[in-house]
Amino acid sequence: MPSPGPIYLDYAATTPLDPRVREAMLPYFSEEFGNPSSVHGYGRRAEAALEDARQRMAELLNAQPEEIIFTSGGTESDNLALRGAALAARQQRGAIHLLISPVEHDAVAKTAAQLADHLGFTLEKLPVDEFGMVNPDEVAKRLDPEPALLSVILGNNEIGTVNPMSEIAAICRERGVPLHSDAVQSGAYLPLDVQKLGVDLLSIGAHKFYGPKGVGALYVRAGTPLLPTQTGGGHESGRRAGTPNVAYILGMVKAFELAQSELDRRVSRLGEMRNKIMNRILVDIPDSQLTGHPEIRLANHASFVFKGVDGNALLMLLDDAGFACSSGSACKTGDPEPSQVLLALGLSPEWALGSLRVTLGVDTTGEQINSFLAALPALVEKARALEAA
Ligand SMILES: *Cc1c(COP(=O)(O)O)cnc(C)c1O
Repeated sequence: MPSPGPIYLDYAATTPLDPRVREAMLPYFSEEFGNPSSVHGYGRRAEAALEDARQRMAELLNAQPEEIIFTSGGTESDNLALRGAALAARQQRGAIHLLISPVEHDAVAKTAAQLADHLGFTLEKLPVDEFGMVNPDEVAKRLDPEPALLSVILGNNEIGTVNPMSEIAAICRERGVPLHSDAVQSGAYLPLDVQKLGVDLLSIGAHKFYGPKGVGALYVRAGTPLLPTQTGGGHESGRRAGTPNVAYILGMVKAFELAQSELDRRVSRLGEMRNKIMNRILVDIPDSQLTGHPEIRLANHASFVFKGVDGNALLMLLDDAGFACSSGSACKTGDPEPSQVLLALGLSPEWALGSLRVTLGVDTTGEQINSFLAALPALVEKARALEAA
């Protein structure tokens, strides 16, 4: 059901809860409230539901149930992957070098920076091409000193580009370097078969695919060393302490099942609308440029820069006109610094400050896209005039 308010074109920031997901969660907020660690019947029923969810999650990822750790969201999954694998690699083989791409989400980038600034690791960033894509050959050149961990985002939240993960994984596999990928943005648009992707660690977050906020998962390939970073009880096989949020976990798994089973249909419908947006904007708006790869990108994701525009001013003009969009990276409101991701593509600040991300979802209609495309050129001109004044 399209909402009656402003037109929502920010599905990469978050998605509404699928009603079928809410339905699946409801009993676990009331009669099925048990703690899965308890011995009695209430506990055993919660435990059975939790382990069934783990089994189903594992099947969707082509993994084993023991390889799934439930977390409080994409951010925690990224933190646990980076910190947990880095600390374990140092302990087991003395590796202290971290290798990440320059287009990571802050949940990866800032965790790696903290490991480097305060915990004795060294940090190196891979180069990317003009589309923000990592070249596997560049990975092969950078495995001395042997990294504790390599982290490369799958589908990029800011620019949509999808990285060639299986090629990168083949190189890491040969050298025995653990590979983490942040797939939080990819759950509704890419099949996430961890055997085909070849990754050792994979982060997922439910609210990017019509599940609840505050719940996620980390896949950890059997045999990959990982120290827990949240300590306490023996939950999640000692790898993530804390009473699990059974209702949210069941919601996430239900949402992931729906997203993956409806993936082809969503990708082809949204991909068509996205292509229309990309083509029209580049033709209709002078001094505009696509960011990210023109084809190898998330199906719902279009992103641009406009020369001489303040991205935040444009977002406010769009909001006034009834369109909810984003500049591409969250938490940038009032921040005059250009995005590190856009600078990594080689864009000058004059271009990088004028970014716009348009991301589509299940409720997006062709009519909404038409009214957006009709309104945008004049709003960009208005934002340019403000900047020039
Ligand atoms: C949203 C997002 C995150 C953070 O996930 P939360 O569940 O919101 O904590 C991490 N990485 C990427 C790529 C994301 O899009």
